[in-house]
Amino acid sequence: MGLVAGFATHRGLVRQTNEDSFLVRRGLYAVCDGMGGARGGEVASQIACERLRALVPDSAGKEELRDAIVEADLAIATRSAEEPYLLGMGTTLTSVLVREGTMVVGHVGDSRAYLLREGTLRQLTDDHSWVGEMVRRGELTPAEAAAHPHRSVITKALGTEGDVEPDLLEIPVEPGDRVLLCSDGLSGMVLDEQIRDLLGRPDDVQAIADALVETALAHGGEDNVTVVVLDVVTDDEPGEAAAEDLDEDTVILGPADRGEEPASATTDLMRPAGGVRARLGRRASPLVRRTSRVAADA
Ligand code: MG
Repeated sequence: MGLVAGFATHRGLVRQTNEDSFLVRRGLYAVCDGMGGARGGEVASQIACERLRALVPDSAGKEELRDAIVEADLAIATRSAEEPYLLGMGTTLTSVLVREGTMVVGHVGDSRAYLLREGTLRQLTDDHSWVGEMVRRGELTPAEAAAHPHRSVITKALGTEGDVEPDLLEIPVEPGDRVLLCSDGLSGMVLDEQIRDLLGRPDDVQAIADALVETALAHGGEDNVTVVVLDVVTDDEPGEAAAEDLDEDTVILGPADRGEEPASATTDLMRPAGGVRARLGRRASPLVRRTSRVAADA
């Protein structure tokens, strides 16, 4: 089984800075959406991604992912207590660990993981949000929730209360599956039907990631938007020979530029020059590959 990942993030057209963070490592992917004034949000989301990066995807499972999320929660709360200007900061976290045939999803907040399989889009995570809970109780439709004025109120986050209990889910994955992790800057701006259509395009994962972010911007870009798109492929996927070996310890943490100047849709898009290609074979130490340079900024 192989993995190919693409990613893109943008501060959007309204926010001054990008408080989302993401992590891409062979077999380990995360999107975190920070909140809290005085740039606390970006600190919180980055701490969460940095805690996760210590996981070893080849051997980690549900317990290790849970422990890393709990550690991130504590680290954010501790930092917040030490520095008054960071008081109250917090972050969502949606992360997947993928190994031979299995994916573990760890989740807190309203960032999302989706699975596209044979044309059907399935949201793997429940939003820990006020409107999300109303949808699960049947009091709002998903479309009403998406347009609700209080849609960004979340009911669970890392760093804010202590003793966070993440949702954990383990599901089988197979070649042909396409997985999306995203912040609410995507899911709040683009309906699921359109996400499904964009994900279903026969393009490579990086083109898909770019198209998702561009669509969120075209719909107003009211929030920071971050996506990681992951393809599960077979070992003998065509084009593999052109891939370049990537050190197994390579970690991509972003965004590199959080922005301070007024945003621009054309200059502010962070994405790699090519997708990140990872292969998980039967060998003890799988190869991680990328199709080209992974740049910090477009
Ligand atoms: Mg957001």
